Amino acid sequence: MRRKMAAGNWKMNGAQAGLSVLDGLIASHAESPCDIVICPPHPLLIPATTRCAGGPVAIGAQDCHAEAKGAFTGDVSAGMIADTGAGYVIVGHSERREAYGDTDAQVQAKAVAAQSNGLIAIVCLGESLSQREAGEALPLITAQLAGSVPEASTAATLVVAYEPIWAIGTGKIPTLAQIAEVHAKLRAELVARFGAETGEAIRLLYGGSVKPDNAANIFATANVDGALVGGASLKAEDFSPIIHALEKS
Ligand code: PEP
Repeated sequence: MRRKMAAGNWKMNGAQAGLSVLDGLIASHAESPCDIVICPPHPLLIPATTRCAGGPVAIGAQDCHAEAKGAFTGDVSAGMIADTGAGYVIVGHSERREAYGDTDAQVQAKAVAAQSNGLIAIVCLGESLSQREAGEALPLITAQLAGSVPEASTAATLVVAYEPIWAIGTGKIPTLAQIAEVHAKLRAELVARFGAETGEAIRLLYGGSVKPDNAANIFATANVDGALVGGASLKAEDFSPIIHALEKS
């Protein structure tokens, strides 16, 4: 009932010359039953949306400012992102929370701005290794969800990505039981807050070292509706097998 999603976060990688990666994805997934999203750096949004127009790959941005405009040197508003033809924006990524100090309230404000401008907000949350080892993962994730997700969210405007910080870019992943536990908790919290219909319909992605060789098992885990993929989304030969695993799941 939930449409599966594979989202690629290119982070600060890529150049116009490398956008042929998109052509490979478009060719391999023309009839995909899944949503496929690539989030390149801001300067590539317009060439990417132009290249992907009408095809199976949608484009998203990696962050936005909560305000519509103003004296915020270096920032980009959700309206500007929507104006490029992009349909999504990642907010609350742990790299933004850690390096730029984004708080739950700021993430929520960014997500509100995204949703108000017709973008789907991919809200990220997840614990550090020390928080997991201290038994704090579930309470932390519950608090992040409560604080970061906008009140007016619907399944059409919100995707939540569980990304344990210690799994991002490290090659380590939680056990499938740990992923299932967190996703079950997220699902229960969403149902409690938004009601059964909306709470059951909001998609939950797993992110953190998803690769072609572990994707199928992760996608077979309850309440995992897809993945947010960093490093393995940079090349079609890595990302495409992950998408194929999702399409078969
Ligand atoms: C990410 O940065 O969101 C991510 C999941 O990265 P990686 O897949 O490289 O661990």
